[in-house]
Amino acid sequence: MRVGLGYDSHRLAEGRRLVLGGVEIPFEKGCVAHSDGDALIHAICDALLGAAGLSDIGSHFPDTDSQYKNIDSKILLAKVVELLSQKRLKINNVDCTIVIEQPKMSPYHDAMVQTLAEVMGIEPARLTIKAKTNEKMGFVGSGEGVVCLVTCTLDEPTDSVNL
Ligand code: MG
Repeated sequence: MRVGLGYDSHRLAEGRRLVLGGVEIPFEKGCVAHSDGDALIHAICDALLGAAGLSDIGSHFPDTDSQYKNIDSKILLAKVVELLSQKRLKINNVDCTIVIEQPKMSPYHDAMVQTLAEVMGIEPARLTIKAKTNEKMGFVGSGEGVVCLVTCTLDEPTDSVNL
């Protein structure tokens, strides 16, 4: 079994869409980013890539590359899942925490789980998404940004020698 850890943060600003977990969330502010700014998907990608020994999201999809401008991050996640399957790595579980002061994530929880499980090709029971505030402390607490943390485990093929 292999374990991965992913982290992402994005600045929140007016005039941007807020997209987290592949779901558009109506809010006065959204993530500032080269892509659609989906910090949850970016953290998931980094956890999966890390567990697979495949570096990180920035090395696969550089933000200096115009083909990724405003890209739907679900496309990036699908590409990461394809890289895992090339190594015959199977996603065992993905555990996520979103830290954001506002808005409440609970109305969007089920849609996020459904969307992300489908993109990753896993049963929804293998994916957990939790959300919390930062108790008004720091840049998350002031509403300046959002943070996402993700761990995952991957199962290696039993006959693997050198991955
Ligand atoms: Mg990001």
